[in-house]
Amino acid sequence: LADKKIAFVTGANKGIGKAIVKGLARDGYVVYLGARGVERGRAAAAELAGDGTVRFVQLDVTDPASVLAAKETIETEVGRLDVLVNNAGISSAPGSRFRSPIEESADNLRGVYETNVFAVVTVTNVFIPLLLRSNAGRIVNVTSKRGSIGEDGAWVGRPNMTYSTSKTALNAITVHYARSLAETPIKVNGAAPGHVATDFNGFRGTRTPEQGALVAIRLAQLESDGPTGLVFEDDVQLAW
Ligand code: NDP
Repeated sequence: LADKKIAFVTGANKGIGKAIVKGLARDGYVVYLGARGVERGRAAAAELAGDGTVRFVQLDVTDPASVLAAKETIETEVGRLDVLVNNAGISSAPGSRFRSPIEESADNLRGVYETNVFAVVTVTNVFIPLLLRSNAGRIVNVTSKRGSIGEDGAWVGRPNMTYSTSKTALNAITVHYARSLAETPIKVNGAAPGHVATDFNGFRGTRTPEQGALVAIRLAQLESDGPTGLVFEDDVQLAW
């Protein structure tokens, strides 16, 4: 495995995350497919077996013990990490429905932020030591144009304060990590996949998961002269 690059994708049993795993596996990476559901994760990894080396690892991003266990597994098996893709995300807190800002509750906001924001910090900080063992560590945070106020993304369709602001926070976090890690080989960027047909939106998106995955796959493989601390949709930098 010494000559292979190692990647880890969170929330990868379906949708865009699964397509990112598939793309990186086809590009020759050993890919750890993170999923909170053991059955769902194993099934997805089995489905992608023909695309390259895909290994299931159990991971609930909101459960610090599971994050530590996933890190131990990867450290024991391969000893380092070249790519971390923080893809797991939710649109609303479990059991909640869309609410306008004046109807929204702080608890619901917190529920979405647990997965989309706070868990990214937990997962990233646990995996940074393994990424520092790579000579080209890459962190890709899967964000959304809806997090972008500068591009009017937050006002697309039915504006959703809870989800949009979680991704705005994720973009800001991306910049902070990039600056903090600027003296290391690690690059940290945000990938906005566009409007993708997944469970997330009742399969109403116009892109396939494979199309939505492309920007994350590209940012995962940036050369050492590539950008850090930016957010891209396709090849276009978002003024978020
Ligand atoms: P899906 O709902 O198809 O996939 C989301 C994935 O995240 C699932 O595998 C889900 O697992 C996982 N997940 C959710 N919570 C957790 C958790 N606590 N721990 C581990 N895994 C978790 O949606 P998409 O593929 O569309 O979304 C992927 C990312 O893309 C998200 O960050 C989303 O915000 C972003 N995005 C999507 C867009 C779209 O148009 N679809 C547009 C812009 C951004 P499980 O199956 O167990 O629920």
